[in-house]
Amino acid sequence: MTAKLIKGTEIREQILEEIASEVLELKEKHGIVPGLVTILVGENPASMSYVTLKIKTATRLGFKEIQDSQPEDIAEEDLLNLIDKYNNDDSIDGILVQLPLPKHIDEKKVLNAIDPDKDVDGFHPINVGRLMIGGDAVKFAPCTPAGIQEMIIRAGVETSGAEVVVVGRSNIVGKPIANMMFQKAEGANSTVTVVHTRTKDLAAHCKRADILIVAAGVPGLVEPAWIKPGACVIDVGVNRVGEKISEKTGKKIAILRGDVDFDAAKEIAGSITPVPGGVGPMTITMLMKNTLKSMKFKLGII
Ligand code: NAD
Repeated sequence: MTAKLIKGTEIREQILEEIASEVLELKEKHGIVPGLVTILVGENPASMSYVTLKIKTATRLGFKEIQDSQPEDIAEEDLLNLIDKYNNDDSIDGILVQLPLPKHIDEKKVLNAIDPDKDVDGFHPINVGRLMIGGDAVKFAPCTPAGIQEMIIRAGVETSGAEVVVVGRSNIVGKPIANMMFQKAEGANSTVTVVHTRTKDLAAHCKRADILIVAAGVPGLVEPAWIKPGACVIDVGVNRVGEKISEKTGKKIAILRGDVDFDAAKEIAGSITPVPGGVGPMTITMLMKNTLKSMKFKLGII
């Protein structure tokens, strides 16, 4: 059997088109567009390329987009004041502080300073709490888990009553996606097991999964024998395992591998996400969706 590929690149395009047309419609009706500010401290190359991609996407969607670059040695207090300025700017619906921050800045303090109603990353403790409560309480689900759930829904995978096994318990992927999948909601209502480094028999748990979500950061961790035939496999892992020369640009690029042995797994699974081109493209897409949602909350239309 060859699994159906769940392509993040294709789903991204569908969602971005939906967002763009909604932005246009709301602009005509209310005269405003979603505003997103990205605060970048220092010149970390990975952060810079990620921010560039965010700006490109936001611009394509017709958002008001501000990139606020700050020097590496900005004082923590000045960064907090900057966040406060955007918290009080009515044209800004989403505030994003690109991580990691330099060592002299307390990351937690900075993230907690963002107005929870503009926290489109969904990392503020208030939004984590809202997510746990579920239903109408939820404002912003964190972007990668939201992208995973959206992929599962759009791939037509049945989640109600399904056995979901999540490998990994990080705050940005494992914990939130596990929480989202057992809620009484669309694309959820599943029975969820979370496994991690202290789990006794990882393979036995994975083998039970109708939907296996892997976010461990260990290349090839999930062996084909751990996959239940016909299961939906979502591979969140993005691991750099080497470098190669790009045929397109002639430049050095990273060779990426997921947490699942893809070539063997696709012969057993019913559906599977590739790496790259699977979950990866969904994160920025859901960030845009959250920013639009924030503007809709502001307008009182949701
Ligand atoms: P993390 O290191 O914070 O957490 C990894 C989790 O996996 C931990 O809870 C740990 O207990 C568990 N784990 C690690 N090794 C394990 C093992 N051998 N057996 C069982 N459990 C194990 O990582 P993270 O931030 O959650 O990211 C996980 C992976 O997902 C990484 O490869 C990361 O690059 C990727 N990621 C991708 C996206 C995206 O595509 N947009 C977003 C976030 C993370």
